[in-house]
Amino acid sequence: MPFTPFHMGPALAVKAVCGRHFSLMVFGFSQIAIDIEPLVHIIRGDAVLHGFTHTYLGATLIALASVLVGRPVCQFLLKYWTPDPSSPFLNWLHGPKLISWPAAIASAFVGTYSHVFLDSIMHFDMQPLAPFSDTNALLHVISVDSLHLVCVLGGVLGVLLSFAVFIIRRGAQVDGQA
Ligand SMILES: [Zn+2]
Repeated sequence: MPFTPFHMGPALAVKAVCGRHFSLMVFGFSQIAIDIEPLVHIIRGDAVLHGFTHTYLGATLIALASVLVGRPVCQFLLKYWTPDPSSPFLNWLHGPKLISWPAAIASAFVGTYSHVFLDSIMHFDMQPLAPFSDTNALLHVISVDSLHLVCVLGGVLGVLLSFAVFIIRRGAQVDGQA
C-alpha cells in the first residue's frame, strides 16, 4: 500500500493516454495481487508488513502471475460487462473485448513496478532491492501526504484526460460521418 486504491489514480492518466494498449483491469488485478502479502501480515499482527512481493524481484513474479492468471480473469469479467448501448462514453471506456497480450504485459509490469516504487517512498519496512541490497533510497523522499496528493491528482487528471480523449475521438467520428 499506500492503500491499494491510491495506486489506481496515476493509472487512470496512463489509460487516458494509452487507450486500448493499457488495461486498467489487469493493472488493478496486479495491485490487489501484490497487496495480499501485507494484508496477510496485518491479519497475523506481524511487525514487517512488506516482504518479498514488495521487492522488484517479487514484483516481477507478481506481474507474470497477473499476466497469466489476471488476463483470463479480466477477460472473463469484461465479457460479462455489456455497457448500456445508449452510453457512448461507457462503450468507449469498455473498449475491445479482447485484452491483447502486449497490453496485459505492459499493464501488469507497470502495475507492480510502480507499486513498489510508490510504496518505497512511504513504508519504512520496504527493501525494494532485496536480496541484493537492504537499502531504500526513496524512503520519505517526499511526505506521505504529498504522495497521496500526487496519486489523487493523477486520478483527477486521468478522469479529465479520459473525457477529453473521448470528446476529441467522438468529434473526429462525427466529422468523418458528415
Ligand atoms: Zn503495497
